[in-house]
Amino acid sequence: MATIFSRIVAGEIPCHKVAENDEFFAFLDINPVALGHTLVIPKKEVDYIFDIDDPMLGRMMAFAKRVAHAQESAIACKRVGLAVMGLEVPHAHIHLIPITKESDMYFGGKKLEISQEKLAEIAAKIQKEYK
Ligand code: 5GP
Repeated sequence: MATIFSRIVAGEIPCHKVAENDEFFAFLDINPVALGHTLVIPKKEVDYIFDIDDPMLGRMMAFAKRVAHAQESAIACKRVGLAVMGLEVPHAHIHLIPITKESDMYFGGKKLEISQEKLAEIAAKIQKEYK
């Protein structure tokens, strides 16, 4: 059965898309820990990120880098932090999180409540900056 993220890529489940190329897809996390919290995934289904072969993992990181630069341009932050967990969704993904302080990357707390309109606005801003 397709993962929830494959269903997002297929357009069966809505998302706020940020960027896409032949191999990878980036979209806003549904439960953001910070404004602009984005997930980068391979379109090919792989559960564990460290099972991805070296060349593809390199391309995934290069794609994530371009998304991160777009986030930096679109959202006020000091840096974009990167995290990999994969405990919830068995489809490899990188969390890219605009941060100004360490605690902005805390996953154990209450998630931000952001309206769909605001999420759409944030996604459009990042998308516009993606080069
Ligand atoms: P992890 O697997 O890295 O522990 O966490 C999975 C992440 O995917 C979580 O931050 C969660 O909010 C996000 N997520 C789970 N389901 C969906 C979904 O249907 N849409 C979006 N946009 N994000 C999701």
